[in-house]
Amino acid sequence: MPLTNAQLAPIMQATRQAIDLTQRVQANYLTRLDKEDDPAQTSPEPVTIADYGAQIILGRAFEAHFPQDGILSEESGDQFLALVDTAQQTLIFDLLAEVLGERITQAQAVSWLNQGKGAMTSRMWTIDPIDGTKGFLGRRHYAIGIGILEEGMPVGALMGCPYYGEAVTDERSRGALFVVHPDLYEGVPQAFSLTDGHQRSLRVSARGAEAYRIVQSVEKAHASKGRIARVRERAGLGDARLYEMDSMEKCALVASGDADLYLRIPRTDSAWDNRVWDYAPGVALVQSAGGIVTDLDGNALDFSQGEHLPNQGMVVSNGVGGGALHGSILQAIADVLGEDDA
Ligand code: AMP
Ligand code: MG
Repeated sequence: MPLTNAQLAPIMQATRQAIDLTQRVQANYLTRLDKEDDPAQTSPEPVTIADYGAQIILGRAFEAHFPQDGILSEESGDQFLALVDTAQQTLIFDLLAEVLGERITQAQAVSWLNQGKGAMTSRMWTIDPIDGTKGFLGRRHYAIGIGILEEGMPVGALMGCPYYGEAVTDERSRGALFVVHPDLYEGVPQAFSLTDGHQRSLRVSARGAEAYRIVQSVEKAHASKGRIARVRERAGLGDARLYEMDSMEKCALVASGDADLYLRIPRTDSAWDNRVWDYAPGVALVQSAGGIVTDLDGNALDFSQGEHLPNQGMVVSNGVGGGALHGSILQAIADVLGEDDA
């Protein structure tokens, strides 16, 4: 059964509500909570009531509209109960009541956070309710990322970027909701402005190496800025304009033609285990917009193994020259990683 606009509309609506909720928290109620779920990490990953609130809104919409579908999502009901004290729970339920127009119970919150978990279906969704939580806490950029996997392939996405258009592009409207699926808009990814509703189709840029705009993470722990700098030099991109931005919005920039290359190269000391919800929406957007996404070895990202993503790093490019530049960047990466191993 093809997916229709009417079926996706409630998920788009829920994504907009999640943007609304997270913006209210970011403006007025920022408190950092710490997860302690991964002993391999040197410092705990942050989470906020907005991460839980956004996933509650989305889980509620999936229960109503895609009750059978499996979901791979970052947050969980157990963790919400363990980490969020009564005062913070009351605050998020008050904010949810404002955004949804109805009060929800703690039992509903837990159930919606766990919506779709454990179900293995041919269509799976991924949910990252706030990607770039560190950016969110720093009052910087973040994204709400929903991916659609069909038979393990990242074919679709909804991505809410409340600050899209700030920093790299000179768009006057602020914020965009990106949507793509092969059954919708003839498979062409779309951006809807959050300020004026303006809709446009996405296509990667045709810029060559001499005009490249490159994006990388803000957070030093997430990628090695030193290695990326060495790769840029080797690939002849040392003079390219370089921007830093949090979250998977970097993929939306490449898909929109506002940036041309996104490099994510782990630090030599990284023990980070990648998860599908961080990558699926961006990969779907960029590939459908004509770009290329590989890991550092030039392989496609593997979304077939549940929440774990086995690949190392990511190279996202506009695919200029039939992928020739992407290939030379991969060669530069192999050289730099080889030096570090030597
Ligand atoms: P960024 O593109 O830098 O904003 O990346 C945000 C994502 O990085 C978050 O969703 C985290 O899941 C992920 N992340 C957190 N810590 C690390 C780490 N040490 N290495 C790689 N990725 C990380
Ligand atoms: Mg994330």
